[in-house]
Amino acid sequence: MDLSVGAIRERMTAVEQQIGLWTQDPVDLVVVTKTHPAEVVRAAADAGARMIGENYAQEVRDKAGAIDEVRTAGVEVQFIGQLQTNKVRMIAGLVDCVASVDRASLIDEIAKRMTGARIHLQVNATGEPSKGGCSPEAVPQLIERSRDQGLHVEGLMTVGPTSGAEQQTREAFRLVSEMAMLHNLRVRNFGMSGDLQLAVEEGSTMVRIGSAILGSRN
Ligand SMILES: *Cc1c(COP(=O)(O)O)cnc(C)c1O
Repeated sequence: MDLSVGAIRERMTAVEQQIGLWTQDPVDLVVVTKTHPAEVVRAAADAGARMIGENYAQEVRDKAGAIDEVRTAGVEVQFIGQLQTNKVRMIAGLVDCVASVDRASLIDEIAKRMTGARIHLQVNATGEPSKGGCSPEAVPQLIERSRDQGLHVEGLMTVGPTSGAEQQTREAFRLVSEMAMLHNLRVRNFGMSGDLQLAVEEGSTMVRIGSAILGSRN
């Protein structure tokens, strides 16, 4: 796929136009640059990305130069991958928000190393053991624990079911939407390249798009 600034901009615009067919409400677009080199982070920023998403702590560190540059230019960097507690220190100072917070030990470590950080709690809404995320039942206590430690819980995040089955995907997204509204959390962070429409129809306010904008990853 063409990873020039112009080509990235065109595909971002196409995604935004699609979203506009399905909702009138604003939906933030996180361009997922995981596995792509630092130049692609810069190109996405030059193409107008306001937020980029990264999955791996080591990769964030390896791309720290580009990440610093784009953040200085006003781009927000969101961490969206499964995060071991001993890797929090690696991303501290390089990301603006951790969207994949799913357990007490991780909350404690983020509160310690990234004082006052913005977070999203990741919910496993399908019960698949392979997926990150807390159980829906754990959300209230994790919100409370985060706030007690001075973290700013902006929203809930989820990843749709691996099967991609429409009904199951809708149900997962709907559950997370309802929970976010119940807890007065502004951000409903779900939707990827393969389930964008379902996500937007089920109330997403923030989608994380990689392959539809940057092509397949190796
Ligand atoms: C890779 C990834 C994405 C982007 O996926 P695409 O299918 O390439 O759009 C979004 N969210 C998470 C958590 C990811 O790991």
